[in-house]
Amino acid sequence: MTHIAVLGSMNMDLVAYAEKAPQLGETVTGRAFRTIPGGKGANQAIAAARAGATVSMIGAVGHDVYGSRMRETLEHSGVDTDSLRTIEGPSGTAHIVVDDEGGNAIVVVPGANGTVDHLAPGDEGVIASADTLLLQLEIPLAAVVAGAEAARRHGVRTILTPSPARPLPFELLHNIDLLVPNEREAATLTDRGDPRDAAAALLDRVPQVVVTLGAAGSLYLTRDAAPLVIPAPRVTAVDSTGAGDTFVGALAVALAEEKPIREALSWAAAAAAISVQREGATESMPYRPEIEAQYT
Ligand code: ADP
Repeated sequence: MTHIAVLGSMNMDLVAYAEKAPQLGETVTGRAFRTIPGGKGANQAIAAARAGATVSMIGAVGHDVYGSRMRETLEHSGVDTDSLRTIEGPSGTAHIVVDDEGGNAIVVVPGANGTVDHLAPGDEGVIASADTLLLQLEIPLAAVVAGAEAARRHGVRTILTPSPARPLPFELLHNIDLLVPNEREAATLTDRGDPRDAAAALLDRVPQVVVTLGAAGSLYLTRDAAPLVIPAPRVTAVDSTGAGDTFVGALAVALAEEKPIREALSWAAAAAAISVQREGATESMPYRPEIEAQYT
C-alpha cells in the first residue's frame, strides 16, 4: 500500500444557515446549525485514505470537544493520528454563515493550527517513510517550508495546494514537485487570468503544475511535454465543497501507485466528480471501489 503524509490544518466548521447573512451590528435568526470537521489538511488526508492509501496526519488540534471529534473523524476514515498533537487552547474553527442563495461569509480562527510552526520530533521520520507529502497553506509558512525541506532530503514527492493563495517564497517552491492551484489561486499567484498563461508562468517556479478548472476539469503543464487538458465527468453537482481536496488526495494516491499522469488525473477527476454529486466536504468523499467504478 502507498503511504501519504499530510502536514496541515484541521478546523471545525461551525455553520449557521440563515435566509441572509447579518450586516455588522445586526442579528438575524438562523434556520439550522451544523458542526462539520474540515480544514484542507484533514480533508486531503481523508480523501487519500478513502482512495486507498495509508495516511499519516501531522498537525494539531486543541484540548476541546472539537479536537476530540476531529481526531475521531480522521481515525474513522483510517487516517493514522499518532503525529497529531493535542495542545492547550482551542482547536481551529471556521465560523460560517450560509445564506439561501448559497453565498457564504467566513471567519477562520486558526487556534491549534497556528502552533504548527515547526516540525516536532518524529515528524521528519514520518515524512521520510511516506511516498508523498501533501501540503497546503492553512498552517504557518515556516512549518510548510520545513516539511518540504524534510521531504526533499528523503526523496519524498511534494504536492502543494496553494490555498489560501499568498506569495510563495523560493525557499518553499524549490522543494515542491507539483503545485495544484484552482483557477482563482493560479490567477492570484501570477496576475494572469487565463489558466494556461498562469500555469506557464508557474512553471518558472516548479517543475509541474495542475490547475483545477471546476466542471471544466484540469490542465496539466510540465517543462518537457505538451500541456494536457483532462475533462471532468459530466455530472449534476449539488455541492462542490471539498472537490479540490478530494481531487488532490486521489491524485496523490494515483501518482504514488505510479499511474501515468493522464490516467492519474482522470482518476482524480472521477473521485472529485463523485464528491460533487453529494452534500458535504469529507462526508461526500468516495472510497476506492466507488472511484474504480466511476473511472472505468
Ligand atoms: P476547488 O474545490 O479547490 O475550488 P475546483 O472547483 O477546480 O477546485 O474543483 C476541483 C476538481 O473537482 C475539478 O478539477 C474537477 O475534477 C472536480 N469538479 C469540480 N466541480 C465539478 C463539477 N461540477 N462536475 C464535475 N467535476 C467537478
